[in-house]
Amino acid sequence: MKKLQGIAVSPGVAVGEALVMDNEGFRIPRRFVARNAVEQELERLKKAIDAASDEIEHNQKAVAHELGDQYAAIFEAHLQMLQGAKLRSELEEMICQRHYSPEYAVSRTFRRYAELFERLQAESFASKANDIRDIEKRLLRNLLGHRREGLSKLTSPVLVLAHNLTPSETANLDRQFVQGFVTEVGGPGSHTAVVAGALEIPAVLGTGPFLNEVSGGDLVIIDGDAGLVILHPDEETIARYRHEAEEIRSLALQLEELRDLPAVTSDGTQITLLGNIEFPYEVDHCVARGADGIGLYRTEFLYLEAEKQPDEEVHYEAYSRVVETMGQKPVTIRTFDLGADKVPHLPVAEDERNPFLGLRSIRLALRNVPMFRTQLRAALRVSVLGNVRIMFPLVSTLLELRQAKMVLADVMEDLDERKIPFDPNLEIGMMVEVPSACVMIDQFVNEVDFLSIGTNDLIQYTLAVDRSNKDVVGLYNSADPSVLKLIDMVVRAADARGVPVNLCGQMSSSTVYTMLLLGLGLRRLSVTPGAIPEVKKICRSVTIASCQEVAQRALAMENARDIKSFLKGELKKWVPEFVP
Ligand code: PEP
Ligand code: MG
Repeated sequence: MKKLQGIAVSPGVAVGEALVMDNEGFRIPRRFVARNAVEQELERLKKAIDAASDEIEHNQKAVAHELGDQYAAIFEAHLQMLQGAKLRSELEEMICQRHYSPEYAVSRTFRRYAELFERLQAESFASKANDIRDIEKRLLRNLLGHRREGLSKLTSPVLVLAHNLTPSETANLDRQFVQGFVTEVGGPGSHTAVVAGALEIPAVLGTGPFLNEVSGGDLVIIDGDAGLVILHPDEETIARYRHEAEEIRSLALQLEELRDLPAVTSDGTQITLLGNIEFPYEVDHCVARGADGIGLYRTEFLYLEAEKQPDEEVHYEAYSRVVETMGQKPVTIRTFDLGADKVPHLPVAEDERNPFLGLRSIRLALRNVPMFRTQLRAALRVSVLGNVRIMFPLVSTLLELRQAKMVLADVMEDLDERKIPFDPNLEIGMMVEVPSACVMIDQFVNEVDFLSIGTNDLIQYTLAVDRSNKDVVGLYNSADPSVLKLIDMVVRAADARGVPVNLCGQMSSSTVYTMLLLGLGLRRLSVTPGAIPEVKKICRSVTIASCQEVAQRALAMENARDIKSFLKGELKKWVPEFVP
């Protein structure tokens, strides 16, 4: 049994079979061959070994010619291993006796060899392990050829283990069969983490390297609450986690009873609980949990899922599904926040060295006005179907906000001329997720109908810490006093002007922060749909006066660790069953 600590990004527990994506992105499932197909599979293995040997010989000759024989010697060692009788008989035995597919036999056998060398620890042996992996990859490439399997053709439940998954790869995971996932890299605020929440499956990111220690079909446990991954668990651990999964299910059932009750504090203050969504189907998750509306619709996922840029009708169809389902409840359509870690089929500048600081989000929209207008037209057209609001992301200057509003006004004029109906009074708001917007908030509040604080980005830009980098995860902290002070500043400015303010970063989905946020004056929280019942339970259990006291004490503290443990202590006093 081996435990790996990573970053917990989506709660819940999953126990199941591993599906390992190697870092070239293909998967090696545990697969068996029929008895009468053994001969054919052995032949396939032989052909793959021959083809891999030809490639190695070719490389050997080329390198000898270019650089000299001494550099080509490495390939001789590869050839000897690949053609060695011992390896071949082991592989054949696995196929003939255990009926493993050649791919699975190769991946298991080579993994065992590599581990043997790694355990010897001397440096020369470690490089030998790398050689073995290199040969394994070559052989697998030849075995799989064009039949390389992605994640699209699953037929049974799996836990996906990968080096990395982009937000769009995560978005395309098969929701029927993928029951959880783990990646070696990735940070707490990454959009991959956000999508994990949308899929409502346990997920752990940033464990560091471990894929060499696990094969497809091995039993694995993902503990999405503690950020733990357990490889090869023993019977007792499996039983404990199965029991925990049961308890989570029964707590969820209890919370379902809150669905139709208001999120009102025990001293009578009404809180509006909205849902964050990335895909239209999630609107059903929001309705099932009794959301008061959609506080953040991350529309950029329409671009990430599609092969080509979505046209106006694609936008219209997606938005109308959401708006019609929500009836008269508000739906906040955030215009596309592409760029950084969400890159569709747009050309990326060669010198884009800091994508999170580069041509992202509203900046990209203002550089691609026709694309921006297409989206705005669709958003305006659906405004007659319900209660639609439009929100601009990542606004960092007043000029940017004014430019975005001008484009919107222009699109409205255009629709007007063509007699296409839309709601001319729809509310227009902005995300507050860049420190410059907080500093200038007194000016911004004069130019918008509402604000929404995006702490996922606000944390990264305030503390200069990449939200998707596991190596700086210690600095990426919602409880940092600088972040709390900025939230406080924004809420005060908004209240003074009577502008509604929402908080839609992941922070609002974590029950540790609910009392703090209410105490800072927030009355609208937009959360991952799965978190609505828990956050509602907290709201209904506390008083505003106690939250205000919590917020004042937290604001006076000097570091994130003290603040977080103080908040956990307070939560324990008020709602003991929710202490994470
Ligand atoms: C945020 O930054 O907090 C936010 C809600 O936007 P996103 O996570 O999509 O960047
Ligand atoms: Mg953001």
